[in-house]
Amino acid sequence: MHIDLTGKTALVTGASRGIGRATALQLAASGAKVVVNYHGQAEAASAVVRAIEAGGGQALVVQADVAVAEDVQRLVKQTLDSYGQLDILVNNAGITRDNLLLRMKDDEWDAVLNTNLRGTYLLTKAALKPMVKARRGRIIAISSVVGLMGNAGQANYAAAKAGLIGFTKSVARELASRNITANTIAPGFVETDITASLGETLKAETLAHVPLGRWGQPDEVAQLVAYLASDAASYITGQTFAIDGGLTMY
Ligand code: NAD
Repeated sequence: MHIDLTGKTALVTGASRGIGRATALQLAASGAKVVVNYHGQAEAASAVVRAIEAGGGQALVVQADVAVAEDVQRLVKQTLDSYGQLDILVNNAGITRDNLLLRMKDDEWDAVLNTNLRGTYLLTKAALKPMVKARRGRIIAISSVVGLMGNAGQANYAAAKAGLIGFTKSVARELASRNITANTIAPGFVETDITASLGETLKAETLAHVPLGRWGQPDEVAQLVAYLASDAASYITGQTFAIDGGLTMY
């Protein structure tokens, strides 16, 4: 199936590396104009824009912390000022601050909830205004299998990622009449900087539970994002898609 996003504008948060980078590249390859949001890695984000432009696409780099309301307003404004519309929002930015609950510090809880959940709330709210006006839109949140299964040492991350699922279903219900869909993707273990920090023993233990016997690649998640963002997925809303090599099948 050929995914054609020509004429659409997409905003991808945390797009300087990993799944966000792969998503920005994939959406641009499918014809969308892409806003590449980053928090701290300006050079890596600019490299994503250069790669899109080298492939004949259009992209814009915008620094913003998704957890800060003023930054989010500016990010959406810059998108609209530059491209005049916002059709696809990919809430990808995410962090981990792992600790067992008994040892978890309040700032570890707050940081993860602020970026992973509040950031998505802020950005979705801001993006909905132009989408409602245009009577079309696609909102995609990158959750995690940890939001489905829980994980020792990640109560903060699991709460935020599970929160995204309930949030997305509510958005899907509220906005369905406006032709706006909202879906969640729950990746398993995907080879990026987030998973690179896991110890070798934990990596091996984890892989033992993955029926496909390997880790996922950012591109594999990006292709699902592109599909959900496309007209081909027009009858899909409020759903959660695990992309995890079979880890959570039941
Ligand atoms: P990553 O660390 O490589 O990328 C995360 C991106 O988010 C980075 O570009 C980072 O700069 C950005 N970011 C962090 N805080 C931000 C903020 N406040 N504002 C804007 N951007 C911010 O990790 P990744 O593996 O590519 O993760 C992408 C998403 O996928 C995350 O939400 C993560 O939780 C989720 N996820 C990843 C995996 C995996 O195995 N890699 C599995 C499940 C879910």
